[in-house]
Amino acid sequence: MLFNVSGLLRSPVGAVRRYTLEPERPVHGGNVELIRTPDGVLVRCEADVLLEGDCARCLAPFGYPAHVSFEEIFVQQVDVVTGRRLPAADDAEAFLISTNHEIDITEAVRQYSETAAAMQPLCRPDCPGICPVCGQDLSMATCTCDRAPADHRWAALAGLRQANG
Ligand SMILES: [Zn+2]
Ligand SMILES: [Zn+2]
Repeated sequence: MLFNVSGLLRSPVGAVRRYTLEPERPVHGGNVELIRTPDGVLVRCEADVLLEGDCARCLAPFGYPAHVSFEEIFVQQVDVVTGRRLPAADDAEAFLISTNHEIDITEAVRQYSETAAAMQPLCRPDCPGICPVCGQDLSMATCTCDRAPADHRWAALAGLRQANG
């Protein structure tokens, strides 16, 4: 996901370029706004991504959609007119515009995708998961294990409910 900004870097602060994101894993759509700032380019990105995860219940790998939205300044390292090296960014973690005036948002998209990733993704909302007794994947087949909670207070309550009903 490369954007050449040599033209934008020659434009006055506040100049804007807009692009549509081409599908490229994990992105399957979205758009980017590049805005000239005094020390580089502000990247505003809205992307639909397809993330991969392991189901929290049955542990099967699966893909699921998520939305990534971020604003990051990409710092200019080289003056586009003179080719002279500019003072290094204060922030060592800052995203940089390459010395040939290109912005690569791949790493930023990766980082923000991690943030957007679900903590406990489920392959489907009603995934039955894995039998804790025998390990059978319950979406494939059932098993005959007794998975009722071993707590007798619940059994007593169930009995009461039956008696009342
Ligand atoms: Zn699952
Ligand atoms: Zn079982």
